[in-house]
Amino acid sequence: MKIPNEVQLILQKLKENNFEAFIVGGCVRDLVRRVEPEDWDVATNARPEEIQKIFPKSFYSNQFFTVTVQTNSKNPRLKEIEITTFRQEAKYTDKRHPDEIKFAKTIEEDLARRDFTVNALALEMANGKWQIIDLFQGQKDLRKKIIRSVGIAEERFNEDALRILRAVRFAITFGEGWRIEEKTAKAIEKNSFWLQAISKERIREELLKIIMSERAAEGIELLRKFGLLKHIIPELEEGYKVTQNKHHIYDCYEHSLRSLDFAAKKNFNQFVRLAALLHDIGKPRTKRGEGPDATFYGHEIVGAKITAQVLNRLRFSKKDIEKVVRLVRYHLFYYNVGEVGEAAVRRLVRRVGLENIEELLELRMADRIGSGVPKAEPYKLRHLRYLIEKVSRDPISVKMLKVNGNDIMRILNIPPGPRVGQILDVLLGYVLEGPEKNKKEFLEKEIEKLGKLSKKELSSLSRKTREEREKIEQKRDEMTKAKYWVI
Ligand code: ATP
Ligand code: MG
Repeated sequence: MKIPNEVQLILQKLKENNFEAFIVGGCVRDLVRRVEPEDWDVATNARPEEIQKIFPKSFYSNQFFTVTVQTNSKNPRLKEIEITTFRQEAKYTDKRHPDEIKFAKTIEEDLARRDFTVNALALEMANGKWQIIDLFQGQKDLRKKIIRSVGIAEERFNEDALRILRAVRFAITFGEGWRIEEKTAKAIEKNSFWLQAISKERIREELLKIIMSERAAEGIELLRKFGLLKHIIPELEEGYKVTQNKHHIYDCYEHSLRSLDFAAKKNFNQFVRLAALLHDIGKPRTKRGEGPDATFYGHEIVGAKITAQVLNRLRFSKKDIEKVVRLVRYHLFYYNVGEVGEAAVRRLVRRVGLENIEELLELRMADRIGSGVPKAEPYKLRHLRYLIEKVSRDPISVKMLKVNGNDIMRILNIPPGPRVGQILDVLLGYVLEGPEKNKKEFLEKEIEKLGKLSKKELSSLSRKTREEREKIEQKRDEMTKAKYWVI
């Protein structure tokens, strides 16, 4: 086990001042699991004001008796280390905020108020050796991959309902094989109602951690089984056992989970994962008819609206909401090689936004795989990517030039006519050969030279550069095709 110097130094200083000091909580758990801890927490019997005296570079937020010490570490996980005075469990009338927090005298009392056995480990340096303090068999539960409440589960969730979501989150994000112990699970089910006492921001944070894990889909299903999902995204549960039609083997809810599962396995970002989970959320409300011929017309429009409501309720940022809503709104886009033309692709790009297109294609893959079809249609999607790039890039045109037709008419004192266009064409040819030539001063001099050419000379010169340009366009198109591996 490797304990960072910054943390060791803090323990040492507290001890020099005759206080007890322990490394506690999630970081000890992660050390045992051989995962790098997110953050480091220290517990001590020193009072906040005493801690502050020892560490001048610290600040105190008195809510939880926690003093945050600033270190000089470059590692973001070690920049700030939290030192918390031993605490006792307090009464939580509102299921979330303790009415009053009391100091505890011993590390034993402090560990007893922690949420789960695997989080109730402490580490101390004693007689020159690191020693683990494990009062609740946390190490055994770590080995067996079990999330178990410290003490009586029922009471612990009653004190603080956030623990309900933390239990699910830990069981899902710690990886394969983790589960929630029986009594703890029962208590979660029994107290699911109290999720309503928790702030939406906290719910969002826990939900995101679940969604960003590899077992995201299992996590959502676990939330449903515990009766938690209906307090978080009830609209998603509306699709439970709502059958689709002859094109689908899974019901709406299961299809959403399978889409999310693919997105998670592919390590797609949070927006694609959210969209995968929510893309068909409008289906239950738009379903007409039953059996193989049921329809869901407009479900993407209704679904986009519901998605906005869900994400707003969970206090996602406006920007994030807009992105996911767009993905849901356009997830039905149709594309077929040779059938859908450039104009339609241009329209799609305009509606979805070029910055969201890649995610829309990922969502399509998740949607297809989530339907149980064997392939995500890689060729078709590559071909669409090629067309998207083709319609989105700037065309090679005289508009790129630092001079325009008016400059030519002014410099040569000629009226509008074919000569103006021909001179622009020739200038464009120069600039394509050497982009550094696209300077007003240089081009103006060239205009004067070109103005002296005869009608015949100029038209043959401009024809040649136009042909040259077409060749470049063609080459560019071939290279784009090669890039996306399409013919
Ligand atoms: P992670 O940092 O990976 O989210 P963590 O377990 O370290 O997980 P923190 O929020 O950093 O979670 O909390 C540190 C420790 O404080 C926990 O390990 C646990 O011992 C204790 N703790 C945190 N929240 C609660 C809570 N709601 N009830 C009881 N103990 C808690
Ligand atoms: Mg932590």
